[in-house]
Amino acid sequence: MKKLKLASRLVHADRKINKPQHGAVHEATNNSVLFEFDDVADLEAVFQGEKPGHVYSRSSSNSAVALQNILSELEGGVGAATFSTGMAAISALMFSLLKAGDHIVVSTYLFGNTRSFFDSLARFAIDISYVDVSDVSNVKSALNENTKMVFSETIANPGTQVADLSAIGDLCESQNLLFVLDNTMTPSVMLDAASVKANMLTTSLTKYIAGHGNVLGGVVVDMGNFDWTTFENILEVYKSADPAVWGMTQIRKKGLRDMGATLAPQSAHLVSIGLETLQMRMQKTCENGLAVAEFLSKQAQVQKVFYPGLAEHPQHERAAHLFNDQFGGILSFELQSNIDMRAFLNHLNTIITATHLGDTRTLILPVASTIFFENGAKQREEMGISDTLVRMSIGIEDAEDLIEDLKLAFERV
Ligand SMILES: *Cc1c(COP(=O)(O)O)cnc(C)c1O
Repeated sequence: MKKLKLASRLVHADRKINKPQHGAVHEATNNSVLFEFDDVADLEAVFQGEKPGHVYSRSSSNSAVALQNILSELEGGVGAATFSTGMAAISALMFSLLKAGDHIVVSTYLFGNTRSFFDSLARFAIDISYVDVSDVSNVKSALNENTKMVFSETIANPGTQVADLSAIGDLCESQNLLFVLDNTMTPSVMLDAASVKANMLTTSLTKYIAGHGNVLGGVVVDMGNFDWTTFENILEVYKSADPAVWGMTQIRKKGLRDMGATLAPQSAHLVSIGLETLQMRMQKTCENGLAVAEFLSKQAQVQKVFYPGLAEHPQHERAAHLFNDQFGGILSFELQSNIDMRAFLNHLNTIITATHLGDTRTLILPVASTIFFENGAKQREEMGISDTLVRMSIGIEDAEDLIEDLKLAFERV
């Protein structure tokens, strides 16, 4: 598998990595919750971690493990745990690895529900500093003797700020801090997470990985580059195994088994089907993103466009370097103040007014009144979200049709 190029690995991953029974090209979707053992000694050995196997599908099943194997291999990790949603992956990781009194440094520019989750985590006596991660010096100044972790996204939604990933990775390595990266916006086909020294990835599989708006899922990947013997929060009971798996074991036991947000077998199958076309979808998405951003930046009715592919974007060079000259599918813009934003959106035909992102279809929505409404005006201002900001998630349609749709709507307002 390693020798194949990425597009080929994506298509052949299931049969090559998991070697399904009967020569099937997909791992079987197995709906059994329980697993039978002929010899009780085997049942005991699996429970005690001495033999591989499944005992109860909340903890593991062949369907989930097959997808975990693929995702781990794809990102260059050493292990993965799948969850029912991206939010479940993030919350399971945090509740498994942190304890009261810990300090963590978190990006100011976060997916709205993730920010809301961190505000809840603070109620469990986790001390959180929110910083502008587009400059590593902000991360550095926030560190203190209790700091355990830095958490960031790659390209932020909706503002498209690009985190100072390489410098943050170096800083975390030198300070021995766990660097957790939500790479949902830039999966492996765009970002080599190992090259920026991320230690753990959280990814919403619902978005680009599955890609078709028909399944929810999330994953945590361990990149295998963190020394778990130095991490204070590993419980004694998990220290008997090889230290390389301590972090992942604790997430599987505490985060997956005990918290219980397991990915359903049928969902694992749908995610793995979506994954096969990830590279070509992402390529088309990025091409369309640039075309639409360039079109919008020339429109008199548009005040400002946020897209890392535009030369005037503050982190354009960094994004080009990190993401192999691709700039993703999130694009935001502000209309001139005399334009009626709601009327404009209602005039669109091909582009769908809907929340969600990373879909094959191009989506659009006003931000402040919807996905960031609950965060309140003060938090929105900190996050750089104005009341007139509109976000697009670019799909894989023909770019000309997207531009035509926007053109007609501009003519009508
Ligand atoms: C959507 C999203 C999540 C949450 O994923 P769900 O699968 O919807 O729970 C987390 N982080 C980012 C960056 C996202 O875009």
